[in-house]
Amino acid sequence: MSDAPTRIAVVTGASRGIGRAIALRLARDGRHVVLMARSEGPLSELKAQIESSGGKASYAVVDIADSAAFGAAIEKVAEDHGRLDILVNNAGITRDNLILRMSDEEWASVIQTNLTSAFVAVRAAARPMMKGRFGRIVNIASTSGIVGNAGQANYAAAKAGLVGLTKTVARELGSKGITANVVAPGFIETDMTKDLPQQIKDNALQMIAVKRLGSVEDIAAAVSYVSSDEAGFLTGQVICVDGGMTMC
Ligand code: NAP
Repeated sequence: MSDAPTRIAVVTGASRGIGRAIALRLARDGRHVVLMARSEGPLSELKAQIESSGGKASYAVVDIADSAAFGAAIEKVAEDHGRLDILVNNAGITRDNLILRMSDEEWASVIQTNLTSAFVAVRAAARPMMKGRFGRIVNIASTSGIVGNAGQANYAAAKAGLVGLTKTVARELGSKGITANVVAPGFIETDMTKDLPQQIKDNALQMIAVKRLGSVEDIAAAVSYVSSDEAGFLTGQVICVDGGMTMC
């Protein structure tokens, strides 16, 4: 039996899609997963599912766009468990529009939810991670933030911003045993993409080297490795999990 501590992992946007798959995977990896999102029902169900398979989970209902509430929720995790080891900033939204039609509100809400929230979480998590001399920060960006995407100026800017934030965190906190990396999904089948026209999906398939759309488990597998103890020499990286669409 190992006497290594159970790693405490926060996963935002755990109520569905990619975040839910990441939470299930990290629980399977032996982490205590703290699930965060705005809707309580799915979080409570996921906690029960993880516990019924012998894993450990708890949840906090929080709006990550509310910086004060979100920062406090992260601090509370560290207080409750006496540590915080893994932070996966996954929750995100889209408010797509062409630049000429994009409102200030569409711009600001996507920057707040997809980029500012990650800064708020990292700032709150840094102290407990430094205290534990261990941390794994994983920011879920998008290939849109690497290569751009028409109709997504707000989303692509926020996701590109996550890359700069992550590389800076990697440099600032690396000496404390904390790594920070970006996992950038390509085209993954979730609620976020299910209503896109078939034509867009067909066009994407043409550009994907492995000739299939991604699954939420494809992203969870990458996050599992990046957040593991053995990934301590991997930091400041952007890992595009996109079936070879961008080869970024
Ligand atoms: P999704 O199915 O739409 O799920 C989004 C998650 O974020 C939900 O759990 C949602 O929970 C949570 N969320 C949204 N706004 C929130 C807020 N203000 N406060 C707290 N939680 C909030 O999205 P997904 O496809 O799984 O995407 C997950 C991440 O991967 C996002 O960052 C997305 O940009 C990125 N990504 C996805 C794809 C793709 O193809 N699907 C591609 C590239 C990148 P509640 O609604 O319950 O709060």
